[in-house]
Amino acid sequence: MKAAVLAVQGDFAEHENVFRKLGCDTLQIRQKRDLEQSFDALILPGGESTVQGKLLRELDMFDTIRTRILDGLPVMATCAGTILLAKQLLDDPTIHLGTLDIAVRRNAYGRQLASFHISGSFGTSKDVSMSFIRAPQIEFCAPGIEVLSEHQGRITAVRQNNQLAMTFHPELGTDLRVAQYFLDVCVSGKTTC
Ligand code: GLN
Repeated sequence: MKAAVLAVQGDFAEHENVFRKLGCDTLQIRQKRDLEQSFDALILPGGESTVQGKLLRELDMFDTIRTRILDGLPVMATCAGTILLAKQLLDDPTIHLGTLDIAVRRNAYGRQLASFHISGSFGTSKDVSMSFIRAPQIEFCAPGIEVLSEHQGRITAVRQNNQLAMTFHPELGTDLRVAQYFLDVCVSGKTTC
């Protein structure tokens, strides 16, 4: 099992560590030719979505990645990665990959709550470590999208078939259960876990 991690900006190294701990090989995607290697899943890390979207276009990786996701490549997105996947951004005219049927508001928690840490539920898992860092909010998701996590009435994680997206960072602690869920459900296709 090889997990490719988009490595143009953001906390890609933390994601690599998580997937290595789970026994995966990892591959950094830094330029278009990296996409020619074979891999089973793609991780879109947190960081700055505007910069990441711009680099994807400038490095000519945008269309290939978008097509692969639409063709069923399992993708796990955290925070800025979720903004890249969203079909609609509520406060920004730019749409990036636009493969996931959600509407997202960037930096939705305001200055006071710019960063915070909680233990929350994710699917059937309890007390999962979640760091929110200038996090977006998922304000709408289309029917049929599975909501996996919520915090104070706000949706914080969703899955639509091969796409898993969350507004928090699960990769900053030692809790590996969100990445394990991704491998089990989105990559291996188990229906429950
Ligand atoms: N605020 C960032 C953005 O809009 C996302 C922050 C993050 O990935 N932690 O892109």
